[in-house]
Amino acid sequence: MDRPLLISALLTHAERLHGEREIVSRRVEGDVHRTTYRELGQRARRLANAVAALGVERGQRVGTLAWNGYRHMELYYAVSGSGAVLHTLNPRLHPDQLVWIAEHAQDQVLFFDLSFLPLVEAVAARLPGVKAFVAMTDRAHMPASSKVPNLLCYEELVETHSPEFDWPEFDEKLASSLCYTSGTTGNPKGVLYSHRSTVLHAYAASMPDALNYSGSDAILPVVPMFHVNAWGIPYIACMVGAKLVFPGPWLDGKSLHDLFEAEGVTVSAGVPTVWQGLLAHVEANSLSFSTMRRTIIGGSACPPAMMRAFQERYDVQVVHAWGMTETSPLGSVCRLGPGQAALDAEQRLALQSKQGRAVFGVEMKIVDADGSELPHDGQAAGELLVRGPWIASGYFRGEGSGPLQGGWFPTGDVSTIDADGFMQITDRSKDVIKSGGEWIGSIDLENIAMAHPAVAMAACIAARHPKWDERPLLVVVRKPGQALERDELIRFYEGKIAKWWTPDDVVFVDSIPLGATGKVQKNLLRDAWRDHLLAAA
Ligand code: ADP
Repeated sequence: MDRPLLISALLTHAERLHGEREIVSRRVEGDVHRTTYRELGQRARRLANAVAALGVERGQRVGTLAWNGYRHMELYYAVSGSGAVLHTLNPRLHPDQLVWIAEHAQDQVLFFDLSFLPLVEAVAARLPGVKAFVAMTDRAHMPASSKVPNLLCYEELVETHSPEFDWPEFDEKLASSLCYTSGTTGNPKGVLYSHRSTVLHAYAASMPDALNYSGSDAILPVVPMFHVNAWGIPYIACMVGAKLVFPGPWLDGKSLHDLFEAEGVTVSAGVPTVWQGLLAHVEANSLSFSTMRRTIIGGSACPPAMMRAFQERYDVQVVHAWGMTETSPLGSVCRLGPGQAALDAEQRLALQSKQGRAVFGVEMKIVDADGSELPHDGQAAGELLVRGPWIASGYFRGEGSGPLQGGWFPTGDVSTIDADGFMQITDRSKDVIKSGGEWIGSIDLENIAMAHPAVAMAACIAARHPKWDERPLLVVVRKPGQALERDELIRFYEGKIAKWWTPDDVVFVDSIPLGATGKVQKNLLRDAWRDHLLAAA
C-alpha cells in the first residue's frame, strides 16, 4: 500500500502499543517528572490544537529553545505531526546568531524553557516575526513580570485545548523539522528534514548492527534535542517503545550518573566531552554502572583511551558513530562482526577508533582534489562524500546551486575507507595540518595525547612554520595535580606514529574552548596559537 511515512504515526504507535512505558524528566523546575507514552499522545494532541489556535499554518516554523525533556518531546510531535516545522534553536549560540537564525527561519512562535528567559528577554524585541513566546512551565512558575511581549504559559495552552485532534495525512516529503549547523565559518545553514527522511532514519538507526535500540532499553539522550533531533532518539523511542530518561540542563558527571542509576538507564548517547566529565566523576568516587550496557559516542572522534576506560574498567560497550547535521545525523557505526572475530583485544580497540561502516541507506566514497574516486584500501585519504534518503540535498532558503557534487553530498571531512568498509575520519578539511605539502591528521595526534595518564584534554592545530608552512602544535589541559611537561609528552609519541608527524611543541592551558555542540573550537585555538612556532623559531 502507498502509505506515507509520517512522524505522527510513531506517536500513535507508541500510544497504542507502549502506552504505559515511562518518560522521566529532570525539570528546570527542579523536580523529577514522570509521564507515559499514553499521556504524551494526549498532551501532544492538545498542544497541536493550541499551535493551530496560535495561527501556525502547515509548513510554517515553530521555534524551540529547550533542554531535553517531556515538554520538548510533546512539541516534537505536536508541531511536526500537525504539518508545521519544528525548528530547534541551540541556546548556546550567541544571541546575535540566534536572532539571525530565527529571522531566517521565519519562526512564528517561540517555545522556551524557563532557563532561557533572560536570553529571550534579550532578543525578543529583535524578533518582530514571532507572534507569541511560550514559557514551557505552569502558571505557578511563570515570571511575575517580564519584558517579553505576548508571553504565554505552556501548561495553560495544554489545559485549555481539547485532546481531540486527528493527525492530518499529507505527503511524506513535507518538511518536519529544521536545524541550523553551528556555522563556524559564515552564516549558519538550515538543514530541513522531512517526515520520510526522519522515519527512514529511525528505522535504520535502531537496527541491531546500527545503534540497536529496543523496547527493553531505557535510553538517556545526553545529545541535545536542540541539535540534530538528539540523533533521532525522540522518534526511535516511540518506534521501539523504549523508556526515555531526559536529563534537562544537568549534564555534569554526578547528575548523569545519579540518573543512570536511579532510572535503570541501559544506553546513552553523546559527544566525547560529556563522557569525560562522567568518567572523571565515576573514577574519583569509585563508582560503577549497574544497568548501563553501552554508550553511543559521536560528534567528534572518540579517543581510544575513553573507549578503553568504559569497556575495560566499567564493562560499558562504546559504539562509535559518525554523522553530521546534514546526515540526520547517522552515517556510519563502528560495529565489529564475525569478520573481525580473529582480532585480538588491542586490534579490536584500534578498529573501534574508526568511525565504522555505512548503515544501510547511506552510500560513501572518498575523492581526491580533482573529484576522482580513491581506493578503499585504508591508506588513501580524501574528502568523504555521501548520499542517501536522509542526506540533505541543499540548505533551507539557500542561495546558489547547492552543495551537491554529481548527486553526492561533500562532507568536508577527510577520511580513509578500508577494504572491509570501515571508514576513518582523519580530520575536517579545514583542520588538516599541511606540513611541507603533506597532510597530517590531527585526530590521530590528539588520540595519542589523550592516552597519556596526565592529560585531561588535548587538541592539535596547524601552527605556521617558517620552513614547513604548517606544523602540528598540541594544546593540552593537564589533569588536576599533574605536572606533565612538554618533553615528556613529546617522548610519549615515540614509536606510536611516523616521526615527522610528531607535534613540534606543546602549550599547556587551563581550558580548551568548546562550541555550542560541545566540540573543540579549533578556529579559536588557531587564532590564539597560530604564530606560536614562528615566535619560537
Ligand atoms: P557542526 O559541528 O558544524 O555543527 P555537526 O554537528 O553536524 O556540525 O558535526 C558534523 C561533524 O562532526 C562531521 O562533519 C565530523 O567532522 C564531526 N564528527 C561527527 N562524528 C564524528 C566522529 N565519530 N569522529 C570524528 N568526527 C566526527
